Amino acid sequence: MIKKILIANRGEIALRIVRACRELGIKTVAVYSQADEQSLHVQLADESVCIGPAPSKDSYLRPDRIISAAEITNVDAIHPGYGFLSENARFAEQCEAANIKFIGPRAESIRLMGDKAQARRTAIAAKVPVVPGSDGVIESESEALKLAKKIGFPVIIKATAGGGGKGMRVVYNAVAFAREYDAARAEAEKAFGNGSVYVEKYIEEPRHIEFQILGDQHGKVIHLGERDCSIQRRHQKLIEEAPSPFLTKKLREQMGKTAVRLAESIGFQNAGTLEFLVDKNGNYYFMEMNTRIQVEHAITEEITDVDLVKYQILIASGQHLDLEQKNIQITRHAIECRINAEDPSRNFAPCPGAISLYYAPGGHGVRIDSHCYSGYSIPPNYDSMIGKVITYGRSREVAMDRMYRALSEYIVRGVATTIPFSRAIMRDPVFRASGATTRYVEEFMGRTPKEAWATL
Ligand code: ADP
Repeated sequence: MIKKILIANRGEIALRIVRACRELGIKTVAVYSQADEQSLHVQLADESVCIGPAPSKDSYLRPDRIISAAEITNVDAIHPGYGFLSENARFAEQCEAANIKFIGPRAESIRLMGDKAQARRTAIAAKVPVVPGSDGVIESESEALKLAKKIGFPVIIKATAGGGGKGMRVVYNAVAFAREYDAARAEAEKAFGNGSVYVEKYIEEPRHIEFQILGDQHGKVIHLGERDCSIQRRHQKLIEEAPSPFLTKKLREQMGKTAVRLAESIGFQNAGTLEFLVDKNGNYYFMEMNTRIQVEHAITEEITDVDLVKYQILIASGQHLDLEQKNIQITRHAIECRINAEDPSRNFAPCPGAISLYYAPGGHGVRIDSHCYSGYSIPPNYDSMIGKVITYGRSREVAMDRMYRALSEYIVRGVATTIPFSRAIMRDPVFRASGATTRYVEEFMGRTPKEAWATL
């Protein structure tokens, strides 16, 4: 059994992992950069180790420093959280080589799914539908354009190493192609140090629907239903909900089976998510797999009553998964709003800085996962997330009304936040009627003046 875990992350997810460990009676070690000395995860973990200066590349992205910290503190396992080194196959191998368990899948599975072009090949081999597109990385602009013409416009150019919506460009015609191809490559090079791209058909007005998977080390894989993450801005998720108001029971069963089959085909262990695009006719296409815990995992926890982080730890320690597919019952609806320190009136510009007053909402059906407190200063070096507000109830309507109420109670002073924006969406008739596709935010902003948000 695992007795002590090092958490190779920061912010709310580091705190989330501390909480799971506490309930399991496992000791925790926080690592932190010089910018995160005042962080709540450092204060709440049993021990902490500073691993370097503020830039991630000198701290949270340094396997050598993290593994040294793990050796000094004598931990049995490392939980990578999301982002940073969580999908780095080499890091998973380095942990195992140092005789420390990596709480995640085997390095081989990360390799098979980590790169988007490779993930497509894996899915095709398992006879899972993928968006029509190139077989692998495209080497030249002329090759890409030829393929785009063959698939038919619009197409989307995507970075194989992509994440967080970066390195992605939608192209509507051949004239704009060269410019967008260069832009996607340059953005990918800058963000991931890897400019490789591929091309696929752009599915118009799709829904982003993803399935949560758990697999143990003994070959058992189950799914815990889906999350609808269609509410996005610039391909980045803002609001998620579960279950999806769009899926029929039949489609849910079909997609759930497909997700499990694909995970089984690579002998997947631990927690993962299979992301699909679903068009308006209910055709679904595999997009990518995240081989780690996701930001939005909490809504699945609230509708299934399964603690995913605890299961990650139990699975990594070799336990048999004690859940059966037929017993996964979904009786509630949950919504999550990601609250960022961004200014919606300045085109969502990040605004890190000191939070002078912080008061989180509470009450029936509200869960807050946040590392912030009054006096905390959000460093400019990392993402600008303040926290996640999760509300749940017996129906979608209850969850939406509760979210509106919770966001009305949330006080964050000193920095601009996305609270008023998310709150306005909860009252928007189009969202309430569950008509949201990935185009929703753009459309909402087009028809709702910013001045009106506060009054909705
Ligand atoms: P990332 O890893 O950067 O988050 P994803 O591949 O998960 O990128 O895609 C993010 C979002 O981009 C999707 O949820 C969807 O809204 C949009 N998207 C990606 N591929 C397509 C496509 N082929 N057609 C339409 N939209 C797409």
